Amino acid sequence: MSRVRILSIQVDKVTMGEAINRCLAFLDEETPHLVVTPNAEIAYRAGKEPALAQVLGDAHLVIPDGAGIVLASRILGDPVPEKVAGTDLATNLLRVLSERRRGSVYLLGAKPEVVAKAVERIRERFPGVSIAGCHHGYFRPEEEPALIESIRAARPDVLFVALGSPRQEYWLRQHMPTIGARLGIGVGGTFDVWADESNRAPEWAIKSNLEWLWRIVKFGRYGRSLPPLLKFGMAVVGQRLRGR
Ligand code: UDP
Repeated sequence: MSRVRILSIQVDKVTMGEAINRCLAFLDEETPHLVVTPNAEIAYRAGKEPALAQVLGDAHLVIPDGAGIVLASRILGDPVPEKVAGTDLATNLLRVLSERRRGSVYLLGAKPEVVAKAVERIRERFPGVSIAGCHHGYFRPEEEPALIESIRAARPDVLFVALGSPRQEYWLRQHMPTIGARLGIGVGGTFDVWADESNRAPEWAIKSNLEWLWRIVKFGRYGRSLPPLLKFGMAVVGQRLRGR
C-alpha cells in the first residue's frame, strides 16, 4: 500500500472506497487494528512530539483527513487521491456494516447527551448496525479501569473513540492491544456531527473542500488552529524545497 511522507508522518494514498475496504478486511482478522485520521494540525504536532509520530507511524491505516493534508501531498508532488474525512469514513463504515448486518460498534467519547443522541441517530439511520455500548468521554482516571472492563465485556468489533486529538490516539494505542475490539478508530468530533446533523457544513462546502472555511465563519473553529496551520504549510514547503 503506497504512502506519502508529510513531515514526520506517512499518510496512506487511499480513496474513501479503499479505506472502507481496508477497514472491512481488518474486521476479518483476529488481531486488533488502529485507524488514525490526522489533519494538518496533528501532522505538524507529530513533528514536534516523537511519541505522537510513533503512534501515527504504528497505525495500520492513516487516512488523509482534511484539505491541508491533501494540499500538502500535492505540494510534495506525491498526491493522495482524495480527502478521506474521518467523520465520513466512520459514517460510511456504519452504512456498510448496516447493509451487511455485520459487526457491532461501541462509541466512547463526547458529552453524555451527545453520545446518547449519536447512538439514537445511528439506530434510526443504520438499523442493521448492532450497538455494543457507549460511554461519554468525561471520565476520571480512577473510573477508567471499570470503563475498560465494561468495553471488554461488551465485545465490540469496532471501537470509535472521540476524546479529541491526540488524546484519543494515545488512548487507543494504549488500550487496543487488550480491549478485544478488532478495529479502533479515533474520530474527533464525529459524535457531535452524528448527534446533530446541522453541525456539519453544507454539501457545497464539503464537495468543494471548503468545510474548513465554513467552520471558521460559523464557529471561529480554527481560530486557535491558524498558527499551527501556517507553520504546517511552511514546514511542508520546506520539505519540498529540501527534495522531499
Ligand atoms: N471530548 C471528550 N472528553 C474530553 C475532551 C473532549 O470526550 O475530555 C470530546 C468532545 O466532547 C468532542 C470530541 O472529544 O466530542 C472532539 O473534541 P474536539 O473537537 O475538541 O477535538 P478535535 O476536533 O480537536 O479532535
